[in-house]
Amino acid sequence: MLLTITTTHQPATDLGYLLHKNPARLQTTELSMGKAHVFYPEAGPQRCTAALLLEVDPVALVRNRKGPGGDAGTLKEYVNDRPYVASSFLSVAIAKVFGSAMGGRSKDRPELAETAIPLVAKISVLPCRGGEALLRRIFEPVGYRVTAQGYPLDPTFPEWGESPYFSVTLEATCRLSQLLRHLYVLIPVMDREKHYWITEDEVEKLLRLGGDWLGSHPERELIVDRYLKHQRRLAQAALERLIEEDEEDPEVVIAARDADDDEGDMTLREQRLGSVLAVLKGTGATRVLDLGCGEGALLKTMLAEPQFQEMVGMDVSARALDIAGHRLNLERLPERQAQRIKLLQGSLMYRDDRLQGYEAAAVMEVVEHLDPPRLAAFERVVFHFARPATVVVTTPNIEYNVKYPMLAAGHLRHEDHRFEWTRLEFDAWAKRVGADHGYAVRFLPVGPEDPVLGPPTQMAVFSR
Ligand code: SAH
Repeated sequence: MLLTITTTHQPATDLGYLLHKNPARLQTTELSMGKAHVFYPEAGPQRCTAALLLEVDPVALVRNRKGPGGDAGTLKEYVNDRPYVASSFLSVAIAKVFGSAMGGRSKDRPELAETAIPLVAKISVLPCRGGEALLRRIFEPVGYRVTAQGYPLDPTFPEWGESPYFSVTLEATCRLSQLLRHLYVLIPVMDREKHYWITEDEVEKLLRLGGDWLGSHPERELIVDRYLKHQRRLAQAALERLIEEDEEDPEVVIAARDADDDEGDMTLREQRLGSVLAVLKGTGATRVLDLGCGEGALLKTMLAEPQFQEMVGMDVSARALDIAGHRLNLERLPERQAQRIKLLQGSLMYRDDRLQGYEAAAVMEVVEHLDPPRLAAFERVVFHFARPATVVVTTPNIEYNVKYPMLAAGHLRHEDHRFEWTRLEFDAWAKRVGADHGYAVRFLPVGPEDPVLGPPTQMAVFSR
């Protein structure tokens, strides 16, 4: 399975910087289902082509099978088209091998990553369930000139008709990150056989990669439905959110657009959620507050943990709470589940007796949204009045910002951030708050730690 990407933007060899792959070398990455090789069949100043050759190992596929599969124990498990066609495996390889480029990041050519350049993608074999007509309906609205070459099922027996396989060329002038995101989402949609078991995370991934184009795509229902493998409940949730995210509301995008560093498989957001969840679980708490809960990402992960019997999400933004209610599916959950969660509108600037009597509180990525002179009010509300036994606070580490190529020097990670702290500043603040209110404090890094700059997110755990 071969995907090539060509540019005639000059100097064309800058493609190597955009893809973070040196044109002079063959680079091979091991994946769970085989190997991905990147090489450049041509690399001149006028024209440069990068090739991603995916070698799928059908035996590894069987060995690493996750979730239920219909072909277990049959020959089809071993003999099928998967090694030879573009499928969700190609999407996985794109994310793994060109992850930074897909995220729009380039260490050496940050402006170019933001620039629309002439690009041609060729997919050697794409199964098009729905034929060439559907191929056009999917790719033309997002700006591609589409050329497709079909093949008979078997040239010796033309009466057998056409195969579902096409060689496809897509041409556009766009950012490389856009091209990669379109391929990532739309290849499995054309192929229709998403290989792995669909989880709720797929909705998040789809929204992250499709956020800026999928909401207005005329075929968005079909794309979402196929991408999520006809799981109607997930597809419905994704569509509702795509439409909502069309209407830009600064308070709501805060949570969604927080500087994502999705170099590996996990985004920084996911790591943060995982770390906070782990600390909360470790305390044994059953009644928990999520202060400044935003769209309810943490509540959603907590809902899956039976340990948490009573959860309260509080936020100042009614709209964020509406979305949280939606995402948590509160109306559709069985009553006993829905009763575990309460959403409250309120401000952390004012004493609020509804917050009393809980064992633990999370305050994830919230303090940096508060004006510094008002931090003292926040401290009293949380540590003096609500006073849970454990408080987990996360906030960006400003020292790490130099590692975000998209962030202009001196800028904070989000326009609503009033400040971001260095590790020393956070340390001093947290220790002072702990001493004032009788809490011990420990600090934990979140995300990939840089030996000099520290981790992207810092976390303090207060306990009394
Ligand atoms: N904790 C969530 C959201 C972080 S974004 C997450 O990590 O995904 C910051 C949130 O803090 C926003 O939803 C914003 O509405 C909320 N917020 C800002 N000031 C607030 C205040 N004074 N009281 C309560 N919430 C506040």
